[in-house]
Amino acid sequence: MEGVGVEPGARVVARTPTQSRPSPHLDLDLAAVRRAYRAMRTALPGIELCYALKANPHPDVLALLVAEGASFDLASVGELDLCLLAGAAPACLSWGNPVKKVTDVRAARAAGVTRFTTDAPADVDLLAREAPGATVGVRLAVGDDGSATPFAGKFGASEDEAVALLARAHAGGLDAAGIGFHVGSQQSDPRAWARAIDGAARVAARLGEHAPRELNLGGGFPTPHAGARTPDVDACAGAIREALARHGSWWRPRAFAEPGRALVADAGVLRAEVVLVTERAGRRWVYLDVGRYQGLAETEGEMIVYRLRTPGRAGPTGPVVLAGPTCDGDDVLYRRADVRLPLDLAAGDVVELLGAGAYTASYASVGFNGLPPLPTYTT
Ligand SMILES: *Cc1c(COP(=O)(O)O)cnc(C)c1O
Repeated sequence: MEGVGVEPGARVVARTPTQSRPSPHLDLDLAAVRRAYRAMRTALPGIELCYALKANPHPDVLALLVAEGASFDLASVGELDLCLLAGAAPACLSWGNPVKKVTDVRAARAAGVTRFTTDAPADVDLLAREAPGATVGVRLAVGDDGSATPFAGKFGASEDEAVALLARAHAGGLDAAGIGFHVGSQQSDPRAWARAIDGAARVAARLGEHAPRELNLGGGFPTPHAGARTPDVDACAGAIREALARHGSWWRPRAFAEPGRALVADAGVLRAEVVLVTERAGRRWVYLDVGRYQGLAETEGEMIVYRLRTPGRAGPTGPVVLAGPTCDGDDVLYRRADVRLPLDLAAGDVVELLGAGAYTASYASVGFNGLPPLPTYTT
């Protein structure tokens, strides 16, 4: 079936045949999303999966996951609307962003969302005021060493604070039901989940008979990229199951996870084109027609190094600096990473970035330097 192009906000604009799709664009294989979802279901039996849609909010992805029975983790009114449009039931929606406006909580409430994550006293009070009786989970600050994109203190309460926040939520008339965490995106160490579960269990132990009945395992499940050895979903799931079993004699919370990247990254191939190849100060620079502002935000700090393919060019390769097309000095994808491309690469050649289905189209700017955001086509 032909894909559907969408603009930001997920407005369907056109059906475009494969050969006339603009460069750059993202091709997303929905069958691969389904396989990734089912593999995670199998690896984490009995654990509800809430897709964190900021990784890729394409309406076809959301519709597929609704059909598969997934739940959703969302962070804004825009994401709430996308979930509802895709047919998700409000009972399957969890507002995972601990940073909320009054208007966010009111919109969520009006739409029937009853589950929220929190990590600060003022946010607990906001929920108590605007969403009385709602189910809340407290997000713990946990070690995010091993993450390619660590939160570095942006979110999460200490264990002491979590105990106090749950008490505050209960006193405020909320259902103080949960404890949870996020070990940092693209987490390469399965032990990160085990340590975080131990932390959650310490909080549960302190609360005794009021121990949380829900445990949010967050996201962070990694996907393969260049130069990075990443555990597969079974390795992460094994560490999780083992840690849960270790506390299972006295604490058996209903667990859920919030995978984002792991469900969509491998389903996406970003197809771009070489604009210019030239020597500068002894290095070969390759400029693509896609860069930091059309969806490659995760190349910042060279956090994520995409695997590259150059169809039709199979000759010897050499090191390059890979740059984006805009006039911004930041718009260089890789200077330090060992990126090698064919020596005969030339303007007009296609370069494919693999594993690019997550955090690309959703990060594309509305039109920096006059370049359009990255369109997505699903098959
Ligand atoms: C972004 C996010 C996720 C998904 O993280 P991945 O690393 O993509 O799996 C899950 N939960 C919350 C609260 C998030 O903000």
